[in-house]
Amino acid sequence: MQATTDLDVIIVGAGPTGLSLAASLAQRNVRVAVLDKQAAGANSSRAAVVHAHTLEALEEVGVTGAMVRTGVPATRFSIRDRDRVLVNIPFEDLPTRYAYTLMISQAQTESILRERLATLGVDVRWNSAVAQVTQSEESAAVKLADGTTLQARYVVGADGMHSLVRESAGIHFDGARYEESFVLADVRLEGDVPDDEVILYFSPAGMVVVAPLPGGVHRIVATMDTAPEHPGIPDVQALIDARGPQRSRVTVRELVWSSRFRVHHRLAAAYRDRRLLLAGDAAHVHSPAGGQGMNTGILDGLRLAAHLSTALHTGDGTSLAAYEAERRPVADGVISIANRLTRLATVPRLARPLRNLLLRTLGSIPAFRRRLAWRLSGLVNRQREGSDMRAPVAADGVTG
Ligand SMILES: Cc1cc2nc3c(=O)[nH]c(=O)nc-3n(C[C@H](O)[C@H](O)[C@H](O)COP(=O)(O)OP(=O)(O)OC[C@H]3O[C@@H](n4cnc5c(N)ncnc54)[C@H](O)[C@@H]3O)c2cc1C
Repeated sequence: MQATTDLDVIIVGAGPTGLSLAASLAQRNVRVAVLDKQAAGANSSRAAVVHAHTLEALEEVGVTGAMVRTGVPATRFSIRDRDRVLVNIPFEDLPTRYAYTLMISQAQTESILRERLATLGVDVRWNSAVAQVTQSEESAAVKLADGTTLQARYVVGADGMHSLVRESAGIHFDGARYEESFVLADVRLEGDVPDDEVILYFSPAGMVVVAPLPGGVHRIVATMDTAPEHPGIPDVQALIDARGPQRSRVTVRELVWSSRFRVHHRLAAAYRDRRLLLAGDAAHVHSPAGGQGMNTGILDGLRLAAHLSTALHTGDGTSLAAYEAERRPVADGVISIANRLTRLATVPRLARPLRNLLLRTLGSIPAFRRRLAWRLSGLVNRQREGSDMRAPVAADGVTG
């Protein structure tokens, strides 16, 4: 390939992972290019949950303030079987400036990250589909569909689940597809629905999550054996009726947006092959239960920026091995929690009383509730990430 540009890092993919990585690298004066095959900001809105640790970490790139001003805080998370609360997890007591889960659409998170990146002098190159990725001992290169070639010292695949960078590196993506599909719907509801709590309803037919979003909208996420491509009000109403609260009926008044997804649980066998690196969904995917996918991707991006800038300065790849050692176990843990939640949610009817008893007993133990809050918020990973994320400097001046 004949290279036309010289860069330190090329990032393939301008989703939340690629944007976080790019912003952090640009702040470290690393010469970076971000390429995406889509037209500007065309990514579909999937994630809606940003956890405390992610908000802490994003202070480094100066976007937390804008995100907090845009989203709505959910201070509690509960697991229920119809009206019965099995586990109640309060976030208020967490030792963080963000003692809640921030509810904000993925589209808004990406838009805030893009704006920040632009102020750092980096614009995403839209309509830039990467068709080929190659590497040599000294550099890596991408060839775009229009024939242009860009070269850099490293190429990062933040190009989602069907990552071309991962394929080009020959890295296996082990796992399988969930049998069920996932329904996502943003709706306006009428009835007794809290606007400061994320509720996960377990039911033999599958789970349903009801979570608040800004503007009086609620996000519904549910597993279904066979879901329609664009679920309508009657579909969402049927899900809530069959799995949600029973004592007082919740009615779907308006459908703002809906979609259906097929989801996999997979983990890349490695996060690096010499000059090619992986982050976000390119490296790990799993069920949306627990709302961890985008959070894990953003944290991959920020941590990779720190390790890459060390590698670029020292000229050796030791810190890149540390990136995989630090982040792959986190993704492994997230995948197993999501799988456990999915299994627990859908136990057969006969086993349901036993599961409920077990969860209610565990849920009455304050240490168990604290541990779950610590895990869901991501704060459990603070230690693994070293001191640069424990006491972040607020680039946007956010202190609480
Ligand atoms: C139904 C559902 C619900 C979810 N809910 C949540 C939630 O509540 N909380 C949460 O944290 N996570 C959630 N997730 C997961 C979350 O959406 C993903 O983890 C997140 O989008 C991953 O970000 P990413 O940047 O790694 O990849 P993506 O968002 O997939 O971005 C990859 C980008 O790469 C680009 N690209 C791909 N190939 C190329 C190429 N060859 N050339 C150029 N560009 C390319 C794409 O256009 C895309 O913009 C959910 C996922 C699903 C499916």
